[in-house]
Amino acid sequence: MIDDSLARKAQKQLYKAAREIKFDKNLLKILENPMRILKVSVPIKLDDGKIKVFKGFRCQYSDAKGPAKGGVRYHPNVSEDEVVALAAWMTWKCALLDLPYGGAKGGIICDPNRLSEPELERLTRRYTTEIMPILGPHIDIPAPDVYTTSRTMAWIMDTFSMFKGYTEPSIVTGKPEILGGSKGRKEATGRGVALITREFFKAQKKSLKGAKIAVQGFGNVGGHAALFLSQLGAKVVAVSDASGCLIDLNGLDVPELLDCVEKHACIIKYSASKIDKEQLLFQDVDVLIPAALEDQIHQKNADKIKAKVVVEGANGPITPEGDEILEKRGVAVIPDILANAGGVVVSHLEWVQAMSGLYWEEEQVNAELERKLVKAFKEVWANSIKRNVTLRCAAYVVAIERIAEVYRYRGIFP
Ligand code: NAD
Repeated sequence: MIDDSLARKAQKQLYKAAREIKFDKNLLKILENPMRILKVSVPIKLDDGKIKVFKGFRCQYSDAKGPAKGGVRYHPNVSEDEVVALAAWMTWKCALLDLPYGGAKGGIICDPNRLSEPELERLTRRYTTEIMPILGPHIDIPAPDVYTTSRTMAWIMDTFSMFKGYTEPSIVTGKPEILGGSKGRKEATGRGVALITREFFKAQKKSLKGAKIAVQGFGNVGGHAALFLSQLGAKVVAVSDASGCLIDLNGLDVPELLDCVEKHACIIKYSASKIDKEQLLFQDVDVLIPAALEDQIHQKNADKIKAKVVVEGANGPITPEGDEILEKRGVAVIPDILANAGGVVVSHLEWVQAMSGLYWEEEQVNAELERKLVKAFKEVWANSIKRNVTLRCAAYVVAIERIAEVYRYRGIFP
């Protein structure tokens, strides 16, 4: 594995926590390797009649604690390396939140903005068919990720159901409510980012009221995180997406911005001061939330971060080198496997609801989400103080100790 590969970076985070607790070297051999990777070719007919073949992946990193679970990403930069890293992070996240899941991730190398809706539907249905041998509500359960939505999940669910001959709502999470999706799922990751930020401020005996927030990536996670943080009294002063960056030191009107994105699918049409989107990370704020893609804060720019805390809305937005620089500079980092775990917590509730056929009210979903996240935050916080380590290292320790316990009972087959 090359040293700057994303999967290698994910391994380095694992090794750091393993060193801290003198983790069993034999078990580490299992945890440092993905269980299964499937590579597929996905041929579809384009609208102009030509055939195009896309490359797709599904990595099931672990199923020690239960079915593999993780999103599907449509992006030009998707690679085997990326899905392996993302599947590893899903594994640690599910273990940290003590969900009965392992970890998975999938993706297709494509630019969804250049495909029509019928092309996206054919792509999704053919990809589902290609990975069908390793899919199932007790095997591997996909969910939305970058540039996939509840619409995509509906196509996956329908394709799987057509092959099985019966309707199977528990094959995906993040699907539309009418198909058995959970109330509160769409907002859950962003709500979780806001709740974890609130807990961090509480633990530090500080107030969130008036705290300045910058959000990179005003999509599902970033947009909802901004909304819930503004409802908690924080001031969202800068947001960016692929189209550009908006700034207002008096605080942007987040509900209006969300309306703009609903209408135009980007933030740039909103009337506010604009700056270069690369500058978002370096704003003078209290909280920085990278909620777009990986590797945004690294060796070359970590010393320019002015925020006091970075809350990882995205998966893997800080490289291990970037992490070290932030640590030395005293910038706290709330790791992805805790900060953005709200999505998979409600995905689990959605799976439970779909399996039982009994659906919950949104208040019940949100209360359970908050209970689980606050519990996990407290565990990570206490561990970080006890061991005098970063929140990331503490979160990994909780996660891998839990998986080790599973192996102690299950043993290694045969
Ligand atoms: P999304 O597609 O809804 O949003 C991604 C956003 O990032 C878009 O607004 C896009 O314009 C923006 N973006 C892309 N490139 C950018 C750039 N260079 N600068 C600034 N913005 C840029 O995706 P999402 O579901 O919100 O996922 C975002 C991140 O959160 C990913 O890392 C994903 O893995 C992670 N995540 C998502 C969920 C979930 O439930 N959706 C759960 C956990 C983690």
